[in-house]
Amino acid sequence: MATSKTKATMRATVFHAPGKVAVEDRPLPQPAAGELRLRMRAASLCASDVRVYRGEKYARPGVIPGHEIAGVIDALGAGVASYAEGDRVVICPVIACGHCRFCQVGRRNRCVNRRTLGYDVDGGFADHLLVPAELVALGHVLRVPDELPLDVAALTEPSACVIASLDLCAVAPGSSLAIVGAGPMGLLHVLLARAAGAGPIIVSEPVAERRAIARRWGADVVLDPATDNVPARVKAATGGYGADAVVLTAGVLALVAPALELVRPQGIVNMFAGFPRGELVPFDPNLVHYGEVILSGSQNATSDQYRRTLALLPVVPHIDEVVTNRYDIEHAPEAYASRLAMDGLKSLVEFPGPER
Ligand SMILES: [Zn+2]
Ligand SMILES: [Zn+2]
Repeated sequence: MATSKTKATMRATVFHAPGKVAVEDRPLPQPAAGELRLRMRAASLCASDVRVYRGEKYARPGVIPGHEIAGVIDALGAGVASYAEGDRVVICPVIACGHCRFCQVGRRNRCVNRRTLGYDVDGGFADHLLVPAELVALGHVLRVPDELPLDVAALTEPSACVIASLDLCAVAPGSSLAIVGAGPMGLLHVLLARAAGAGPIIVSEPVAERRAIARRWGADVVLDPATDNVPARVKAATGGYGADAVVLTAGVLALVAPALELVRPQGIVNMFAGFPRGELVPFDPNLVHYGEVILSGSQNATSDQYRRTLALLPVVPHIDEVVTNRYDIEHAPEAYASRLAMDGLKSLVEFPGPER
């Protein structure tokens, strides 16, 4: 009988090797005890997915990428009592051990035994996502507020990363912030720093279209590094001191040393972007020494930062404009192509469904 031979399948985007992703049939996962399954509604492409595609960052060959994800629970494994079918949720993709030194102080994004959905374990560029029991037990399945549409909720993960960056930079009302690069993550910094009351917000970005968006979305000073003296303009906008914090949102090595010239003494420079593996960059260590500058990085976010992000997103203006390119699962590889071409801002893979 045809039915007995037919195994339920789903469509999935699979990463095989740098430069090679394909849409294929995969078996429909069935949740075991402690697991649950989502019917995906939206998954956005991250700059780090593009870095994997370029061979600059590791992912397991054969993995389904996608860690910026929103969906609806459509199957529950045995023993999962705290969720119900039909729940609209997003996922914190960090699979943390729960018992290492970092996990014990709530910094699961620093877990030394960490695995991540979309890199080590199958992620959300597929019709369905099997959520590992560890993520369910960690509380990394987060309900979406009713007023937040799921295509915007897919931006919870990148937005939580930005909240972590702003926390690291100690951004508070009245903090001056210089943002280097106005790609999707730089612009998310503009929106969320504005929502946090930061000002002045100064953006440096070579692409005119992105400068216009930064201006429209609330940046106070928008500079073109090709024609503006960026360090002088940052100083002029901050009473001669330099910015309280500088965030480098583009993984361009040539931007590292100049970023150090934008920060005030005792300010913070956050390397938010990832950089090509193994590449070195020279900088003047005396700028750090005499300026008592704190140089840091940030990646992903704590559970608490995810929780705060979900509470904040429904009231952030323009957040629904961050996604500019939408694809169905059959065209998911084009989402990579549009990011590689720097066409628009965020690319989203969307899945049909009745829920908003
Ligand atoms: Zn991401
Ligand atoms: Zn851990």
